[in-house]
Formats: sequence, structure tokens, C-alpha cells
Amino acid sequence: MGGNALVGVRPRPWAALGLGLLVCSIVQTASAADCPGHPDALGTSRTLVVDPKEHPRIGTMQYAETLPLGDHEVVLTFDDGPLPRNSNQVVDILASQCVKATFFIVGRMALAAPEGVRKLRDAGHSIGTHTQNHPSSMNRMSIERARQEIDDGIASVKTALGDDTALSPFFRIPGLSRTQAAEDYVVAQGIQLWSADFPADDWHHISSSRVYDIAMKRLEAKGKGILLLHDIQARTVAALPRILRELKARGYRIVHVVPATSELPVTPTAPQQWQLHPPSETVAISHWPKIPNFVFANAETLPAPALSDLDWRDGRSMTLAEASSHAGRLARRVPLPREAPWPRQSSLAPDSAAIVLPVPAQSIFEIQEKPPPATQGIAPPADHAERPVPREQTDGLAKLISVDAGDSAHTMPVPIGAQ
Ligand SMILES: [Zn+2]
Repeated sequence: MGGNALVGVRPRPWAALGLGLLVCSIVQTASAADCPGHPDALGTSRTLVVDPKEHPRIGTMQYAETLPLGDHEVVLTFDDGPLPRNSNQVVDILASQCVKATFFIVGRMALAAPEGVRKLRDAGHSIGTHTQNHPSSMNRMSIERARQEIDDGIASVKTALGDDTALSPFFRIPGLSRTQAAEDYVVAQGIQLWSADFPADDWHHISSSRVYDIAMKRLEAKGKGILLLHDIQARTVAALPRILRELKARGYRIVHVVPATSELPVTPTAPQQWQLHPPSETVAISHWPKIPNFVFANAETLPAPALSDLDWRDGRSMTLAEASSHAGRLARRVPLPREAPWPRQSSLAPDSAAIVLPVPAQSIFEIQEKPPPATQGIAPPADHAERPVPREQTDGLAKLISVDAGDSAHTMPVPIGAQ
């Protein structure tokens, strides 16, 4: 029976191809229809409705689960805004492609530019929060202070929106500097903790083309996932149109994530879909020689993602000694020590170990890309067009923005008067 059925199918390969084309055609037609005036738009292929209480921690850079995405599905996230000069451009670029994303807003930024937050709401994006002041080291902060940061951030964004319903129960820890206590506090409120599946290093002092390269390489390596970007960065603004064009060219589809409400039921999913590569998929794909073995072979053995490379710092300059040390770490990235590659990990509560998934996210990519240490450790002078220092901002805001911007704003203190 089975053999006959196969024989019956084989002479008609075009039927399957035709079906595939039909599906693609339907998706693209839907995207174009949703984006009047932009027939070639990438579009948003579907909306994923999630219940934060069912899956409170997502993003394989840190957690066992991630969003239940299909192959070639991507969720775009933008942190640290709004900074009108750059964030507004990001919103316009996304609008031109009818792409919906999720923004993690800093409370102080929301109070400084409340219209920027409302612009996101009006454009239909999802809005989460990212603390009040974007502390660089929540993992070394008392739980009382951490709670205050979380609560104040939420309150500030609500104030900016003037409408509680427009805020999604989504939260991302600044610098991904997690602690069990802070996470428990967030989760207890029914808020979903978002890590990411891969960043594009756009807070580093790198060119926009490098941001594009990193985003696409890391996406191609995983095949799907949550991309972490920063709407406050000029280099991200410059890279975004090309990223969106390439996503479309390579057949990727954008998924918009929203929280469930009484009117909006959860998208049905199976538990294994909340893994980046479910066992069934892994087994199937592992027989395909084009997939590098390390993607799966190392997943169980490597230590936590190399968050040291995120290097969010408290707005201070990296000294030459630190930069040299950092560059040295990068050069020695292969192989990583199995235990405690990063001193901060040793401060994690023992019971947190079970929750931190040892996916070797960035370490893998460093093996592949291995940028010259100088590009990340000791950044070369930026070209002026890409320097993200928000000179028109107040000192306080500039410092705040630089927290995630890290070395882009402060490790390379290009004299302002020089240009
Ligand atoms: Zn941030």
C-alpha cells in the first residue's frame, strides 16, 4: 500500500512544486494586499498570539524555550527607544514594508518622548518594557532596586501611552543581565521575559553593513528566531532596509507577536514548537550534510551564551587595559572553557542553572565569523554618519541611551569638537 502510494506520487513532482508555489503566492499576495502602495513589501505573514503565563521565558540565548516559529519565520525586536531621531526612521522603514515588530521601551525614554511610544502603538507594533533607567547590571542589583526599575519602567510607558491596554506584558532585562529573583518577580506578574535567539551586535561600534552581515549570518545559522536590534542606533537605521529586503529575497517571513486577551485567543501550539529545533526536526535535519554539526552537537555541552560579548556597560569608557583584555577574550574564544567562562556567571543562584539553557549562541558565530579583535574590542573611529551619540539630547538622556549603545557611545569617545 505504502509503496503504491509513493509510486503514485513520484511521476508528478510538479504537483508538489505547484502547491508550494501556490502557498508562497498566497502568502505574498496577502502581504502585498496588507501593504497598499508597496507591492514588493516584505509584509507581516502572521500574528502569533501568546499567553505569557504558559511560556514565561523565551529566547534561546538564555532559556530553554523560544517562540513557536516555523522555519524561516522571524520576529524583529527593538530595544532602548524611543529616541525620536532614529526610532522614527525605524518606524517609517517598518511601515514601508508593512512589518510589525516588538519594541522594548525604556521608561525614561518614554517620558522624554511619549509621542514616540504612541507612534509605535498607532503603527500597530507590540510594546513591552525594558526598565526605567536601563541599569547595566541588574544581576548585581538588590531585588528591591530591581523591582523598582521594573515597576517604574512599566508605569512610565503606561503614562506615555495614556492607555493600559496598549502595553503588552512583555519585558526584556537590560543587557540580558538576568537573576532568578528579578525573573521570578516579572513572571509572578504574568509578564513574559524575552531574551532573544540572536543579536546583530548593533550596539557595538561597527558599520551598518557589519550589522547586516551579522544579522543575516546568525539568522541563516538558526533558520528562524527572535532578532535583537536597537532602534536608537543610527547604524541599525542604516542597516534595516537592506535586512528587510534580504529577508524577503531569501524567503523569510515576519511574525508579529501579541499577547492573548479575552477577545484574542492564544494561537494553538504544541509544547515542542517552543523549542528552537524540536527533537523531531533536529533528527530529520541532522541527516542533511549541509547543516554544520556544531549547531546541534554542541548544544548540550557548551556553557551559557557568551553574554560577555554583549558587553553592556554602565556608560563608562572601556579602558585600554579592558579593551585589550576584551580583545584577548575574543581571540581566545575557541574553544571556550566549559565552566564559568564569564565571572558574572558565578554569581548566579544555583537554582538558576537549570533555567539557563547552555545554547552556545554567540560562541558558535564567533567561530564562524571571527571578526578582527579591533572591530569589537578597540573600535576604530566611526564615520560621522553612523555615530549614534545623540548630541541634541540632554546629558542624562545621552548617558541613558549609551547604556546599551555601550562602546558605540562611550568606549570610543570621539571628540565632539573634532567634526
Ligand atoms: Zn537595552
